[in-house]
Amino acid sequence: MSKAVGIDLGTTYSLIATMQGSEPVIIPVAEGGRHLPSAVALTKGGERVVGDLAKRQAVLNHENTVHGIKRLMGCRYSEKTVDTDVKRLLYNVVEGDEDNIKVIMGGRSYAPQEISAMILRRLRMDAEAYLGERVTDAVITVPAYFNDSQRQATKDAGTIAGFNVLRICSEPTAAALAYGLHKEEGRVIAVYDLGGGTFDLCILEAGGGSFRVKATNGDTHLGGSDFDDRIVKWMCDAFQKESGVDLRQDKMALQRVRDAAEKAKHELSSLEETEVNLPYIISDNSGPKHLVMPVAREQIERLVADLITETLNCCQRALVDARLRPEQVDEVLLVGGCTRMPKVQEEVRKFFGSEPRRGIDPDEAVALGAAIYAGMLSGEVTDIALMDVTPLTLGVRTVGNVATPIIPRSTVIPTSQSRSFSTATDMQRSIEILVYQGESKIFDANRLLGCFNLNNLPPEPAGSVKVEVNFAIDENGILNVSAINKNTGTAREITIKASSGLEEATLIRMAQDLESRENAYAVLRQADKLLKAFEERASTGLGEKLEQQTLVLKEAMQGEDINAIWTGLHDLAETAAKIEPLVEKNSNGNGNKKANGKLSG
Ligand code: AMP
Repeated sequence: MSKAVGIDLGTTYSLIATMQGSEPVIIPVAEGGRHLPSAVALTKGGERVVGDLAKRQAVLNHENTVHGIKRLMGCRYSEKTVDTDVKRLLYNVVEGDEDNIKVIMGGRSYAPQEISAMILRRLRMDAEAYLGERVTDAVITVPAYFNDSQRQATKDAGTIAGFNVLRICSEPTAAALAYGLHKEEGRVIAVYDLGGGTFDLCILEAGGGSFRVKATNGDTHLGGSDFDDRIVKWMCDAFQKESGVDLRQDKMALQRVRDAAEKAKHELSSLEETEVNLPYIISDNSGPKHLVMPVAREQIERLVADLITETLNCCQRALVDARLRPEQVDEVLLVGGCTRMPKVQEEVRKFFGSEPRRGIDPDEAVALGAAIYAGMLSGEVTDIALMDVTPLTLGVRTVGNVATPIIPRSTVIPTSQSRSFSTATDMQRSIEILVYQGESKIFDANRLLGCFNLNNLPPEPAGSVKVEVNFAIDENGILNVSAINKNTGTAREITIKASSGLEEATLIRMAQDLESRENAYAVLRQADKLLKAFEERASTGLGEKLEQQTLVLKEAMQGEDINAIWTGLHDLAETAAKIEPLVEKNSNGNGNKKANGKLSG
């Protein structure tokens, strides 16, 4: 059986963890760090890169770099959030029709699920290399407020990346698991999660082996990068005042200032004062200029004070929804890198009137909790039972644009519930079933998940034809709806899935596409290296063949024919395998020659 992993698929960073013995541990990524930037890019050289490499080349190649893809998962193009996100995060690389969002990278369009899958696949590869075994089973976390489409899209991304997704789990639930709070009965927990791009506040109640979400609130546009924006503006203003030069007009300089601002912010979580020192930041007619300025913790705290207050306003709103006062919260957990800031900790402490729990690295709590959950589901962890709940109410539209609930929010899942409806008019021959998710009593104010018709009803007076609608939510929080015409004797049943769920065939195609292209990039990299080191390329004819096959594979990768890519990469790998021993022999020979030379000299 393969090792089960837990994944925190974040907006800015993603982490992967697993159980080692009885403890969850973070698996380091290939670059050596503990988290992978959630960025994907097609480099100018035509190679797809994920993580640090993608992040680093973002300034110079922004139109082919995608980050923050989490915000587009399961969203419709027509939805409001997209416009803002396109500007803020994805530049000009999004297109789509009413329902589908496509992200353009290197002239090719991708579904957000495919981009997320590239990040997930990288994590899977890193985990396999680290653990020395195949990794397929995974629990992936999502924010508590993610709706059915967003959860389904995340699950699909996992499938495309080659995972068997054991469960989609809410981030605050995972954090509470990491702190061992599932053992507590009737305790109210607030998870304050201030990450790079978003703020989430979730109030949970532990009891009966589950966490119930009592309320969530947050701001999808408030996070560490907004803190950085404030510091950058302050630094640029100060520099302009002194030198007359606006660094914001120079992309490279601005990126250096951004990096320095974030670094200073980090340092000021443990120091009272630091210095930003950026030599040769820009030059003009008078010569090169340097940015050197002291930065005090107090200064940064002043710059972001209103942003911290805004997070507390979200906390207040969540408490109102949960009908609780701050002092009724038993435990406050701090999650997300920005909660390292002493000012954030202080304000949270003042607001709730109690010391927040720390102890676990705030960046890692969610991934560690997901690993525990994965361990539970794969049988490695046996002393915990956990039930998840559905975050939002699900129901159907009834006469007068009314939203009629079938499964109320916070119901423990999996669950299956039915409700009977009857025809509203005489001789009604069909019923349209519109499925929604949300808390409004007005149907249109909620999110439409899907619809279908029950046709060929018998022509009867109003109210006499009965239809039973069944909603079933599986353990991932994903919904299946069926309707049975009870009158005709022969029951008919129709099942729909959330609209963002990809068809099985599409998922398989995307998974094969991802796998073939990633393999192709690896073989192309190897061929390129060999070609440079292969001295006898002309005499053997093998070098020419390798060059030729490289072109064929690159050509195939321009198209959509997966078989052509596989054929191309197999041919290239075969030739590369013939060249490899020749190059090795040469380099051994050269190595000896050099060593001899040095000795005799
Ligand atoms: P996350 O999305 O949870 O990984 O959080 C990332 C955010 O946390 C980024 O904005 C980081 O700059 C910020 N962050 C990480 N470490 C620190 C620190 N020591 N002090 C302040 N902010 C930090």
